[in-house]
Amino acid sequence: MSENVNHVRYELRRDIAKQRIHFTATFPKRQGSWSLQLPTWRPGRYELGNFAQYILWVEGVNQEGQRVRLNKIDLHAWQVPNGIRRIEWLFHADILNAGSTCIENDLYYVNPVNCFMYDVERQELGAVIVLSDLILEPDAEAGWALAVAMPWEDLNGAPTMQARDLQHLMDSPWMASPKLWHDSYREQDLDVHIWIHDTLPSDLARFVADHVAFTRSQIAHFGTFPTQEYHFFYLFPDRDVRHGVEHEDSTVIALGPANRVQSEEGYLEIIGIASHELYHAWNVKRIRPIEWTPYDFTGPCPSELGYIAEGVTTYMGDLFLYKSGIVDLKGWCALMTSLLERHLNNPGRHNMSVAASSYDTWLDGYKMGVRGRKGSIYVEGAVLAFLCDVRIMELTAGKASLSTAMRLLWERHGQPREGLTADMYWDTLAEVAGDRMDDLRNQHAEGTEDTWTPLVQAMSTQGILLSKRLDDAGTIRVLLHQEN
Ligand SMILES: [Zn+2]
Repeated sequence: MSENVNHVRYELRRDIAKQRIHFTATFPKRQGSWSLQLPTWRPGRYELGNFAQYILWVEGVNQEGQRVRLNKIDLHAWQVPNGIRRIEWLFHADILNAGSTCIENDLYYVNPVNCFMYDVERQELGAVIVLSDLILEPDAEAGWALAVAMPWEDLNGAPTMQARDLQHLMDSPWMASPKLWHDSYREQDLDVHIWIHDTLPSDLARFVADHVAFTRSQIAHFGTFPTQEYHFFYLFPDRDVRHGVEHEDSTVIALGPANRVQSEEGYLEIIGIASHELYHAWNVKRIRPIEWTPYDFTGPCPSELGYIAEGVTTYMGDLFLYKSGIVDLKGWCALMTSLLERHLNNPGRHNMSVAASSYDTWLDGYKMGVRGRKGSIYVEGAVLAFLCDVRIMELTAGKASLSTAMRLLWERHGQPREGLTADMYWDTLAEVAGDRMDDLRNQHAEGTEDTWTPLVQAMSTQGILLSKRLDDAGTIRVLLHQEN
């Protein structure tokens, strides 16, 4: 066994029938007792994940090979006595979505942030992850292949991956399967890989071409891509799921059932999520709220900036479908119609600002919650991003836009991985626009003013007429059409 002092060695073995993973972790020597931590949440979902509910047991193993019971000191933390370096645990893995871990007959899919434990005081340690029972035969018919962004090699028949430190490990999912479709493309200095498990979209050539289109368009706006390699991991099971999660240099996107994946509507849904997730490679993975820089997995980290992390990304993800020619103006108007209807029909936007709603995602941000209580960082955040985009274009006679500001934020705060504050964001928008936009911040980010009049005006500057009516059920319906 390796005695390297710079990394934790994790060996994983599956019990496929019971959908479980057995972990053996060997930590470098240290003095005194220490805290063993399981993450309490995962990036991309700003609420507690309570992953310890899937841990069946945790034990230490001393130098003599005797098993030692570990006492819990918190819901997701255990006290490890002096001298214990080897820890074993059993994790139950039967959930399939874009942020989970799942063991099935033909799938070995892991998000380390669900199930890897670490030493709270030594987060700089690297990780070596050995998939002891995975035999790869990527070229054989029905042979297993491995899809992962972490560097890896097949060592003595066991795929062995490496993470630089805890932040890298927790943001590096993988999937292995005998049913993996793979293709790749190169855009500037970036190698992009597409991996699909299970159902394949009906037109794969179009699927890849659309990925190339939005990748090219987004890189052109930001100038550079954060990494040299990026992976799209698609899970298209024949069951109901719709979910995407961004990572450091990859994304996991889950959609199902099969007939949805193969329909035109489902196809556009997938491409829309993919464009959104790629945009996250800059916005949130690098241009990241200061409260999440670096990620602290020991407890909640509320931030008011979800309207930038998710709102700007939601708006831009859709806008890049239009900029790259994947949808036409009519298609973009359809996306905006759906966004505006969700916005206008949520009375919570008048009760709690999107900044305050962002802080509270840790309470109820990912469920309906009490009607009329809160806004959504995705929906209200995207509407605000649209208002900011149009304001900058108006003030600069079309010479700059929100994309110009996002590029500056990437260069100044994203590349050096310096956490973002609300002031940094609004100052950069003002700098690009040549004027402060504090009214938008006060009224629609940190306030609860109605957006209807600003929205009508903003659409009108784009040559689009915005109107609304009430349908028979009392729901607000939006109409967008081009002015002649
Ligand atoms: Zn997102």
